[in-house]
Amino acid sequence: MFQNKEKINVVWLKRDLRLTDHRPLKLAEASDLPTLLLYVFEPILLEDPHYSERHWRFVTESLTDMNRHLARKISVAHDDVVTALNQIQSNYQVASIFSHEEVGLAATYTRDKAVLTWANEHSVNWVETASGAVIRPCANRDSWDKNWQKVMRADLVDNHVDLIKIVSFKFNTSKLPATWKRANPAMQAGGSSQARKVLNDFFDSRGVDYHRLISKPRQSQLSCSRMSPYLAWGNISLREMYQHLLRHWNRTGWRRPLIALSSRLHWHCHFIQKFESECNMQFEPINVGYRNMPYRHDAQSDQDLVAWQTGNTGYPLVDACMRCLNKTGYINFRMRAMLVSFLCHHLQIDWRRGVSHLASVFLDFEPGIHYAQFQMQAGVTGINTIRIYNPTKQAQEHDPDGLFILQWCSELSSLPKAVLFEPWTLTAMEEIMYGFAIGQDYPAPIVDTQKTYRQASERLWSWRKRIDVKTDAKRILRRHVRSN
Ligand SMILES: Cc1cc2nc3c(=O)[nH]c(=O)nc-3n(C[C@H](O)[C@H](O)[C@H](O)COP(=O)(O)OP(=O)(O)OC[C@H]3O[C@@H](n4cnc5c(N)ncnc54)[C@H](O)[C@@H]3O)c2cc1C
Repeated sequence: MFQNKEKINVVWLKRDLRLTDHRPLKLAEASDLPTLLLYVFEPILLEDPHYSERHWRFVTESLTDMNRHLARKISVAHDDVVTALNQIQSNYQVASIFSHEEVGLAATYTRDKAVLTWANEHSVNWVETASGAVIRPCANRDSWDKNWQKVMRADLVDNHVDLIKIVSFKFNTSKLPATWKRANPAMQAGGSSQARKVLNDFFDSRGVDYHRLISKPRQSQLSCSRMSPYLAWGNISLREMYQHLLRHWNRTGWRRPLIALSSRLHWHCHFIQKFESECNMQFEPINVGYRNMPYRHDAQSDQDLVAWQTGNTGYPLVDACMRCLNKTGYINFRMRAMLVSFLCHHLQIDWRRGVSHLASVFLDFEPGIHYAQFQMQAGVTGINTIRIYNPTKQAQEHDPDGLFILQWCSELSSLPKAVLFEPWTLTAMEEIMYGFAIGQDYPAPIVDTQKTYRQASERLWSWRKRIDVKTDAKRILRRHVRSN
């Protein structure tokens, strides 16, 4: 059956779009066989509501960047993976597939099972290597932290892709949108070259106030590392970033920002590990006690959901954050938490109805971090502090001059600072003076957060006391926290 067909390996690229610190590429380098580098734009993901055009543009840019350093291009398919493999197999004899393990959505897990069946049927050896410090499977966290340190401090994989004899396959990609090849200057561009520029720039100067400005929606755009899309799509390994951080560890004046950043790099894998161990989190609260948590499902809640998604809730900071995200793909941690709090606590809308909207606008969408964080902020874990953010207070504390709000809600620009955070408090006389009408120029608030705060607080604390919530909280702690 394989007569006259060239024997090859396949390196299947997914969320590991780089040529350095890349174990599957190393396996290909060590083999005598030629290798086909494969990326597949899969309909199951292209059509999935978690993803949007911004992600595929980022991937396209990442592949272009990789191609610049390769003797022959990465073969790109637009099909399901098994069909792509069958097409390759019609020209070549695939000996091995090398790839990183993926901790992803249920759709990719199902796809992996189909790929495994295909590999077994065709006597193809599929070798998967670990992604970062995530352990698959992981029974408990007893030695997890030690393993994280070990993995992150180990030497980077010393890749020499020039050793690979690359072969290619021409798939039909005529239906991939041309717009993915057009840069969007409002968003971070993909690729390892960009990742390194952004990382160096952070350590050159802009990171010095990282810890101080991390919660400010405007300043954090510069003072945070902005490495999340590059880590999420694997343009750089977490290990490379961590080792870069360690090289700056003793730098004068950088102690606090580096400690804060180092913890977050640890959390990155911690949350992905959590999702790996409890992937049902995509569909249900991790704490089974919250399965029947009451949410609104009336027609008004549909409209409120749209107001939240489009940045038209009448709460300036909420709207500014959502509009910023919709346009640029980025907002800092605190504001992400506030958006979820507004959705689940003030609007009392089920977290599952908002989770894919935020995923689709976060350029850095990473299923493991996203679901774990979303549930934490939605208050359905039973183990984390309950936080119900007051959006007006958040604006006063973190955008005191209203500059971020004005950047994204320019319709408020005629208002004095005193009412900028609460435009609904304008008197009729003031509306005339400022030439501004609430409900016309800017939406009236869709809820009264003073009232919804009280209701949410009562609801969340009474559920927190339930036996089923407490029992499952103990199980969650046993599973995801070190026992000693
Ligand atoms: C509801 C919600 C959803 C989120 N969804 C995602 C997501 O899909 N993808 C994602 O990468 N982050 C997510 N985060 C975490 C965090 O907000 C972002 O990682 C961070 O804002 C990205 O900006 P940065 O790269 O400048 O981060 P920095 O503060 O510079 O941190 C550096 C890196 O550490 C990791 N990190 C930082 N904060 C966290 C955290 N709280 N938990 C886990 N890892 C962290 C990220 O990889 C980040 O790139 C989410 C947070 C919330 C509240």
